[in-house]
Amino acid sequence: MTPKQKLEAHSSEFRKEIFSFSEKIHFAVGYGASNATLIEADNSLIIVDTLESTSAAKELLVDFRKISNKPINTIIYTHSHRDHVSGATVFAGKNNPTIIARPAQTNMLGAKEVADISVARARRQFAINEPEWVRINLGIGPAERPLTGLGAGILPATQLVTGEREKHLIDGIEVELVAAPGETADTMLVWLPKKRILIGADNYYKSFPNLYPVRGSVYRDVAKWVESLDIMREFEADVLLPGHTRPVTGSKTIQSVLKDYRDGIAHILDTTLLGMNQGLTTDQLAEVVTLPPHLADKPYLQEYYGSVAWSVRAIFTGYLGWFDGNPTNLFPLPAREEAKKMAELVGGEEKLLDAVKTAVSKKEYQWALQLADHLLALEVHLDQARKLKCTALKALADQQINATARNYYLSYAHELCGEL
Ligand SMILES: [Zn+2]
Repeated sequence: MTPKQKLEAHSSEFRKEIFSFSEKIHFAVGYGASNATLIEADNSLIIVDTLESTSAAKELLVDFRKISNKPINTIIYTHSHRDHVSGATVFAGKNNPTIIARPAQTNMLGAKEVADISVARARRQFAINEPEWVRINLGIGPAERPLTGLGAGILPATQLVTGEREKHLIDGIEVELVAAPGETADTMLVWLPKKRILIGADNYYKSFPNLYPVRGSVYRDVAKWVESLDIMREFEADVLLPGHTRPVTGSKTIQSVLKDYRDGIAHILDTTLLGMNQGLTTDQLAEVVTLPPHLADKPYLQEYYGSVAWSVRAIFTGYLGWFDGNPTNLFPLPAREEAKKMAELVGGEEKLLDAVKTAVSKKEYQWALQLADHLLALEVHLDQARKLKCTALKALADQQINATARNYYLSYAHELCGEL
């Protein structure tokens, strides 16, 4: 299978379906980018996570109503990311439910001071508004889904969980709420001890995890994420309901999946830190740090969503900041000056353009991008430089198993060239 075919095959993870466990727990996959759970309590319903848009929530509510007509009195957020909280108004209706969450410590799109660029980059990461063929899937969710009311139906928490572990009895249902930072610092597990079902937020889904999102975010604490996976293993759950992708069932399977997942993340973290202490730079580490062979072929550690190389860069920056240790990079030449010297080196701007064309024709697409950027910095042969860059971006997109990279390449090409 080519990488693109692998990514296409991964779409089966998001087939629309409601899974029912022990008659009372119903788990919806494929209605939006993320999953949601319905728990039938004695006289009411509990909803865990509410999808990314009011339109997706409306579709799901119609199907949940086929299961039960009891009032929705409780909503629980596993974390504050927009794709999990944006359908709350739909489920709440006029019922004014209790909304339980940990105190929100991160924003969906990073700090509000950089909201404009964060939104722009998120649109590229998810290829929002791009033609349908661009998005094979999101890596962790279906490409085509209801987007009307995206981010529109968020309700604030009315009951904050401030303890590390809290036991609650909600209308006859025993629930344990457990702090477990992962994609966000405010991530919370929902453990249903009677049913041995663990709702695991985004600490696990069937892809290498997004330790760093290219839309940009504050540092995601990878060491804490590993600890959280260890907490998840302690429950020895019979059913694991992830924030994205299909449920995992069977205690043995869940234990081995969670162990591999935590070992994979821990390996990337430890190897990166070791290399940093040995003086390796960000670029060097991004090149050499990989998953060990016994984990690299696991279906749940394929890089459909997160990327090992990006994670390595994030860890480096998270611990040491942007400086890679090489003094060449303390005060590098401005891009335009470097490009000018590069053009002189190859015998002029025409030759530089020829080199980009040659790189594209030899299918050296990354090299073509790097060379084309010199022409763009010089602001010469702009039309051709843009077109060649777009050709390279489109070719690279089709070589990617990583949905995020694919979406970003193609969205950017669309912006740069005005067409795809
Ligand atoms: Zn999510």
